[in-house]
Amino acid sequence: MLSRSELKEVASIERRDGYFVSLYLNVDPMFNKKGDYIVHLKNMMKNTIDILDKNVYKKVKVDLEKVDNYILTNKRSFKKGVALLSSSKNSFWKEYHLGVPVKNELIVDKSPYVKPLMDILDNYQRYAVLLVDKEFARIFLIHLREIIEYGEVYTPDIPGKHKRGGWFALSQSHYERHINYHIGMHLKEVIEKLDSFLSGEYIGRIIIGGSDEAVSMVRGMLHKKILDKVIGTVKIEMFANSSEVLSKVEPVVLKYEKKKEDETIEKLITTAMKNKDAVIGLEDVLNSLQEKRVMKLIVAKDLKVPGFICPACGFLTTQNVSTCPYCKGKMDMVDYLISLAGEKAINQGALVEVVEDNRKLLEVGGIGAFLRF
Ligand SMILES: [Zn+2]
Repeated sequence: MLSRSELKEVASIERRDGYFVSLYLNVDPMFNKKGDYIVHLKNMMKNTIDILDKNVYKKVKVDLEKVDNYILTNKRSFKKGVALLSSSKNSFWKEYHLGVPVKNELIVDKSPYVKPLMDILDNYQRYAVLLVDKEFARIFLIHLREIIEYGEVYTPDIPGKHKRGGWFALSQSHYERHINYHIGMHLKEVIEKLDSFLSGEYIGRIIIGGSDEAVSMVRGMLHKKILDKVIGTVKIEMFANSSEVLSKVEPVVLKYEKKKEDETIEKLITTAMKNKDAVIGLEDVLNSLQEKRVMKLIVAKDLKVPGFICPACGFLTTQNVSTCPYCKGKMDMVDYLISLAGEKAINQGALVEVVEDNRKLLEVGGIGAFLRF
């Protein structure tokens, strides 16, 4: 999974005396109906080699072949985006299978190109899950439906010291004070660890899991700043495995994201109504795409519309015109206009949000976009 600390490390890699090949490829089946990413890859390869200095080409030939070969032979691992970073000279190789599509790019440079990965961290909400009980705590990170365990806190008590009726023979109230003191110490440590995790990785939202008692104790100790980031609490076994944690927490995440999505669509419609930096309806979206103005495309899932494409300049339209208004090229009929529009948006570096079950979006044609200018 992507993490800010790892990307920082990659970006500042010390052994920089060779070249790096960085490949980003949109392999999203929804926005690549014919699986034509192979064609895009071949074109990028050809264009890159054409303009590359011959001496540099000699140095990165093996890396270009390596990423090319990887794409051809690893289709089964693909999600929606692939990022490959390679420098044989530095014995360096990184591969990322991403839950979101990325703009197609092939870059040869003296350092690995990680900006698109940084952008994914910034643009897609990450969640921390804190699992806590009286002497143990675990912290997880969730991003794009994936989970990893980040760390744990274990604060064992001094054995035997508070055994009820043990040889210390503590009084009942003394015993309770001791327990509370110990839990307090533990939770303090847990909160410190959570704090440093949140600030290091810029995590915006938190879910707390554990028994009702543990959850309410830890909530009581959190600063308001952190408490404001808590979007829900869940009952989870302390030693549940990662996928169990993910499945318990997912309803909270989905509910939160649904709410955000509704707000985004509200904003899209009101902004478009004011004729500001947004458009709704397919034809306006297609024109904005042609003018490269789309910053974020919002599209209803399963929206299917046939239309026309200009193979020469990529102009898309629903209107049955025989020649392209932009380049006078001959127009072709296509089945998947929405898919092509999404692919075009991604390749212009726009974000694409696919929305399920939103009546308001469907009422305005199922598609809209926030514009850059
Ligand atoms: Zn055209």
